[in-house]
Amino acid sequence: MIIIMENNATDDQIQQIYERLIDQGFDIHRSTGTTHTVLGVVGKTDSVDIRDYEILEGVHEVIRISEPYKLASRTFHPEDTIVKVGNAEIGSNKIVLMAGPCAIESREQIRKIAKMLNGTGTTILRGGAYKPRTSPYSFQGLGEEGLKYMREAADENGLAVVSEVMDRMDIIPALKYVDIIQVGARNMQNFTLLKELGKVDKPILLKRGMSATLKELLMAAEYIMSGGNHNIILCERGIRTFETYTRNTFDISAFPVLKELTHLPIIADPSHGIGIRNKVAPLARAAVAAGADGLIIEVHYDPDQAASDGAQTLYLDQYEKLVKEIDIIATAVNRTI
Ligand code: PEP
Ligand code: MN
Repeated sequence: MIIIMENNATDDQIQQIYERLIDQGFDIHRSTGTTHTVLGVVGKTDSVDIRDYEILEGVHEVIRISEPYKLASRTFHPEDTIVKVGNAEIGSNKIVLMAGPCAIESREQIRKIAKMLNGTGTTILRGGAYKPRTSPYSFQGLGEEGLKYMREAADENGLAVVSEVMDRMDIIPALKYVDIIQVGARNMQNFTLLKELGKVDKPILLKRGMSATLKELLMAAEYIMSGGNHNIILCERGIRTFETYTRNTFDISAFPVLKELTHLPIIADPSHGIGIRNKVAPLARAAVAAGADGLIIEVHYDPDQAASDGAQTLYLDQYEKLVKEIDIIATAVNRTI
């Protein structure tokens, strides 16, 4: 951390800050330039709220040099993390395809969808059993029963399973059936849930909160990692902006930026990212071109009758066409599917 003093800062002001930092156990390197005095602060500055120093008399600016997300950062872990799930290696050269309905609706529905995805290149079946719905009157998901159906459907077709948990209480039952636990956008900063998932021996798919910055997303990952679970897949799923035409605004910048900041894999959810069926594919293509390690896409045999998110859910033929396009784009960016 660096503290740059005002050019007219008094010796007294500098001394006060100096002493305060020493009291907190930091080492200080002081350099006095022709205009500004600069204090280089060495030590565990992660937990310092830099505003506590910014408001002090005589301080011009406080700059944090090292990121507060030590475990998620590339600085101390330069090589890419590859999360292995079933036949998939997320974060490898291969673009991983996850697909399925928004929600598990019945045993027949999820078995039918898993079967139709078999042979499309999809390796992970998605589907919610605990649904975070805006309205309490909307379909809330089948709970553990749904997870059972999904496990069966996935096993019949050689797929792995990703599903969301909304509450700490759901973790133990979910672990019996899922290969990846999803943290939804609405729970990205549910710190008690994140802490609990740090103790879990299964990968976590961590979705970006709809008003979260990339730094906040990485801090959420850090919560899980600091508990001991380093198998995290980040997911860009669109954020809230002033635009109302689309359900969310898909942040394509997230891919190149996160690739630089973190070693964790990052996948794209263009379905929630735009919320409009015929616009999911262009977004998916753009995400892969921008560096996404995989896609999670809502697919159903009858999207118009889906219990949730039908408007953004692809028909199988749309999905198959998209996979072919992704194959071409993957080659263009030196990757495969
Ligand atoms: C979902 O994947 O169905 C979902 C609810 O996603 P999000 O948390 O991104 O809204
Ligand atoms: Mn959905």
